[in-house]
Amino acid sequence: MIQLLPDHIANQIAAGEVVQRPASALKELLENAVDAGATAITVALTDAGRTLLQVVDNGCGMNAADARMAFERHATSKIVRMDDLNAISTFGFRGEALASIAAVADVELKTRRADDEAGTYIRISASEVTAQEAAACAEGTSVAVRNLFFNVPARRRFLKSDSVELKHIVMELQRVALCYPAISFRLLHNSNELYNLPATHLRQRILSLMGKDINQRLIDVMVDTAVVQIKGFVGKPASAKRTAGDQYFFVNNRFFRSPYFQKAIFNAYQQLLPPDRAYPSFFIYFELPPDRIDVNIHPAKIEIKFEDEQVIFQILHAAVREALGKFAVVPSIDFDTEGAPAIPVIRKNDPPATPPQVRIDPFFNPFEEEKKTAAFRQAANKPPVKNWQRLYDGLTQNTDFDPDAPAGASLPDSPEPESLPINYAPPERPLMQLRGKYLLTPIKSGLMLIDCRRAQQRILYERFLHNLTTSVQETQKEIFPQTVTLSPVDYALLETVADDLKQIGYDIRPFGNNTVVVNGQPASAPAIDAAQWIEELLAALHENPDDLKRQRQEKLAVSLAKAAAGNSHESLTSFEAQALIDNLFACREPSLSPEGKPTLQIISIEEIDRRFLK
Ligand code: ADP
Ligand code: MG
Repeated sequence: MIQLLPDHIANQIAAGEVVQRPASALKELLENAVDAGATAITVALTDAGRTLLQVVDNGCGMNAADARMAFERHATSKIVRMDDLNAISTFGFRGEALASIAAVADVELKTRRADDEAGTYIRISASEVTAQEAAACAEGTSVAVRNLFFNVPARRRFLKSDSVELKHIVMELQRVALCYPAISFRLLHNSNELYNLPATHLRQRILSLMGKDINQRLIDVMVDTAVVQIKGFVGKPASAKRTAGDQYFFVNNRFFRSPYFQKAIFNAYQQLLPPDRAYPSFFIYFELPPDRIDVNIHPAKIEIKFEDEQVIFQILHAAVREALGKFAVVPSIDFDTEGAPAIPVIRKNDPPATPPQVRIDPFFNPFEEEKKTAAFRQAANKPPVKNWQRLYDGLTQNTDFDPDAPAGASLPDSPEPESLPINYAPPERPLMQLRGKYLLTPIKSGLMLIDCRRAQQRILYERFLHNLTTSVQETQKEIFPQTVTLSPVDYALLETVADDLKQIGYDIRPFGNNTVVVNGQPASAPAIDAAQWIEELLAALHENPDDLKRQRQEKLAVSLAKAAAGNSHESLTSFEAQALIDNLFACREPSLSPEGKPTLQIISIEEIDRRFLK
């Protein structure tokens, strides 16, 4: 017996595709407002959209009949014939959004066209119209969605914490705001104003969303071809991020995702990014005839099919390369001189020390079995020849250091330090310490300066990251276990990394009332002040609560490495100093700290010569 589904059930099923969370409802409502020609859009939320999600626009509004029709499935003013589907220039066209939202919430619509005296008020709850009347209201449209998913408990339960939902909402708003700088946007949450974006031009809109700091980090991209017009901005290589962040593609003013085009951009950055920072920012806008793309392949229209995909890939790649090339003519030094030792300061107009030519593999994945074991087995044992050479390749042809030279004969007097578990005698090499902060050592091409703390961070970072992916680490029991009380949100966040913490050797247990007790720390790492570190870790995790597992583990490893490397400038024993250098160069990326700051500087012989010229 085949029966047609009743409308309200069909709508609810459709809603499952269109409306997954408050942010997806917001996306549809924002798009409708833009389609309606609004120049000012206000979004008001209560409880991250769970209780109330309202969008108010000053667009064209609707008459009473249309206002009612708008909630019918497949009701749209935007396409009439199949041909229209190929020439879509509006966001919406399926006529599904309002029907879907109204199937899973209480919706109130108020709308008035400019020339009408009275407007229309409609109330719909779970697809059922409960009120429709004439009403006095402002020009434009207001849609208030209350108690989203009240009749779909499973969906409601599936919603994440307010902070996560809000993050998704902000993301949707940003995507629309980044396409329509001429429209002003406001976002209110629990009556706090989160955004107030005045109408402006594109660059300024990006700044108001991303922060003024980004201004000097943006490079213009612009290319106009018969196939496509591309404009927008890419970030300078040095400002790339360690996690995927501000990466935006838009086509005909519609946000979309594209790993394929992303690759075109990443390729253009090849060799330019600092290691560990594989994600350049970009804001790329494609314009092309609507019939050359298909936006109808994804329910939320977030994936788009391009007819001329491969050609556009090439054009995009070339455009970004060109932009980066132009910018490179005016050099900006990626390597700061912050760590320079107390020897004569390098003069401003001296050429900068040659930065190591670091090659990076943006697709490096430490979880990949083969690479993982190879890279880290090396780190665990002797300094791998490969890494030594790789660093020096970029600096000089040959070096005084010979990693293959027989190990130094004399063992140090001091016992083997806990923090540097090494079981070989490091080669003797001339080495000097400066205030416990820097190590100075001659190399063939000049003088190498190493920032001890950053070096230590790098070593520990790679070790922790390694430990997170291999066997469970041993725990050293605390004699005086420390308790830490957290906010409920922080407590929940800490739980999300509980397994990882255990894996690296932390014994942290719930102690009731959002309190945890730190019973033990990793035996293989320097002990740290757990309370303070947990606070820093939580701050890092808060930045991006939705992070993928890998990114979360990286954050964990960074914060641990920073905490464990400490802040003090105690001088090292000569054994420790030698071992530090060996361990550093056994790392995958010896030249940068886990946060992407240089661990070392090289002052070339030529530079030193020049200082004695006068
Ligand atoms: P679609 O946008 O795909 O057409 P929707 O369900 O989102 O489908 O909207 C249905 C119709 O309701 C739209 O085609 C439009 O005519 C009308 N509409 C929706 N929101 C607004 C608004 N904010 N202002 C004016 N008209 C609107
Ligand atoms: Mg729509």
